[in-house]
Amino acid sequence: MAKISINIKSGTIESEGIIVGIDLGTTNSIVAMVDAESGKPKVIGTGDDVLVPSVIHIAEGGIPIVGETARRALVSHPHSTIFSVKRLLGRSYKDIANHSDFYSYRILDEDDGKLVKIAAGDHFFTPIELSAEILTTLKRKAEAYLGKTVSRAVITVPAYFNDSQRQATRDAGKLAGLDVLRIINEPTAASLAYGIGLDPNEMKTVVVYDLGGGTFDVSILRIEDGVFEVLSTRGDTYLGGDDFDREIVQYWAKNLTLDMKSWSQADVQSIRLKAEEAKRFVCTANLKYSDSVILHGNNLQLELEFANFEEITRRLMQKTMDCLQSALTDSALGLDDIDEVVLVGGSTRMPMVKQRIADIFGHNKVNDTLDPDQVVALGAAVEADILAGNRKDILLLDVTPLSLGIETLGGLMDVMIPRNTKIPAKFVKQYTTSVDGQVKMGISIYQGERELVEENRKLGEFILTDIPAMPAGLPKIEVRFLINADGILTVEAQELRSGVQQQVQIKPQYGLTDADVEKMLMDSLTHAKHDVELRMLVEAKTEAEQMCYTVTRFLDKNKSLLTDEEVLKTKELVKMLNKSIPEGDKNAILSGVDALNTYTRPFAERLMNQAVSGALKGTKIN
Ligand code: AMP
Repeated sequence: MAKISINIKSGTIESEGIIVGIDLGTTNSIVAMVDAESGKPKVIGTGDDVLVPSVIHIAEGGIPIVGETARRALVSHPHSTIFSVKRLLGRSYKDIANHSDFYSYRILDEDDGKLVKIAAGDHFFTPIELSAEILTTLKRKAEAYLGKTVSRAVITVPAYFNDSQRQATRDAGKLAGLDVLRIINEPTAASLAYGIGLDPNEMKTVVVYDLGGGTFDVSILRIEDGVFEVLSTRGDTYLGGDDFDREIVQYWAKNLTLDMKSWSQADVQSIRLKAEEAKRFVCTANLKYSDSVILHGNNLQLELEFANFEEITRRLMQKTMDCLQSALTDSALGLDDIDEVVLVGGSTRMPMVKQRIADIFGHNKVNDTLDPDQVVALGAAVEADILAGNRKDILLLDVTPLSLGIETLGGLMDVMIPRNTKIPAKFVKQYTTSVDGQVKMGISIYQGERELVEENRKLGEFILTDIPAMPAGLPKIEVRFLINADGILTVEAQELRSGVQQQVQIKPQYGLTDADVEKMLMDSLTHAKHDVELRMLVEAKTEAEQMCYTVTRFLDKNKSLLTDEEVLKTKELVKMLNKSIPEGDKNAILSGVDALNTYTRPFAERLMNQAVSGALKGTKIN
């Protein structure tokens, strides 16, 4: 197995190019780098310009605009301005359905496990594409600052992100023209920014308390031999500074007997902004906040003292402390086992956060000297610097030089073990059949970075046979990739309901020279954007084909539930969708899928109701 230093630094792959660190945040994003002269990490930009709001406004003609301008469009164009896209990355509608009220824009309700899509007018976007827009903005920002091309990055993700969310983040980087060398956990990055984990001989246990604008996470990390392990992570993805602001608004509404139900969206937004201003004021100065403003046609006197603020937000603070306690319990550690605490996120500037943490762990363990908004990006830059081989004292571990994966529908590469993963490694994913009664499934294993398997290197294949005949989608086929410390890959596939299984062993590096690896990486960089676009088109086509198959099958079996007119209209929609597939316009295909989905959803409900009433009729009373 190659050492990462050979691949990354090998001549032709931009040996001089800088690797940037990116904090792709829910509310704001930041790009940082290590300064070649001082060897210290620094964020790119000054003052308010450091933070790029993670907001995308879809302007006329489907053109995306990112950052401050987009943020201002949140009030004026709520339906075509997308915020919090990070919450949707790698998620299906089912995952977010409970919070669908939170979003002012339209998220397509596809009731199966497919990744969500967002509609803005006639244009359809995946969270990957939208995140890629944010990353492109950050890439350009770094390029403008450095005066040269930036094509490699380390991107951070929350510790609780699953493989699908991590893969989506990688894809977004790829689409933005970035070679994502590594995805690292935000708490790991924050610790690195404070230099924790840089001494290979040190063993430490760290608590990272991250309270941002909209989310809260607490993680407990164990660092040994320079390797970070997440012992436990807890949090609340809908708890952050915004909730503290909301408490202030409610406090004012109660004291001034405001009935905000009749207020315009703009007035509600304005009072929220005032609340945030008041919060920052009382948290920084030991003075009373007082402001007179005209809102909803009334002259209002808005006042807040720190003591009131602390009182009305006690419940929220306690919630974060309960999470911290649960994380400690999960890790089976006591307070004395914790060596350091790192504070992350703008809301940790609130004095009560620091106070509570210091009361629990002691002042000397709290790391809060770096800007809590920047600490994750700074740490990502430190990791980038390590990967660039600039820190000679840090041992680089054996990694997989190229991604390993299998072929899925449409000839796409589904990555199981991403490149640069430390070995040994293990990855498990579930698949299912696409056709009724399917009894065999071919597993083809590939190595490489391209989105279509035909462009990658085939390592082997086998056929899982004797799958019991079941309707499409019912078999549970688990594919396991295990790569041991010697770099031997074992791929196993097992149908979980029946237990049938098959496996193969491969040595991925056999016959592969450093020059081959280099060429494959170069090719993937050159074709990255086109490749990801192609993948999205293939995915849209596959989805459309499956939709046509399912709806046609439904019509064959359940025609009696539909009126003649409904049957005709459904057939017409299927025909139109089928026609759009070979034409290859992604937006047109997705729009057809959306139309068919929306039109046929009530039919599925009818079928359900019929089944339920059938079951009820059959129920015996005694
Ligand atoms: P982040 O998502 O990490 O950028 O955190 C932004 C959150 O931090 C917002 O809710 C801000 O209102 C909050 N914040 C920023 N500065 C302060 C401050 N000085 N005092 C209290 N909250 C702050």
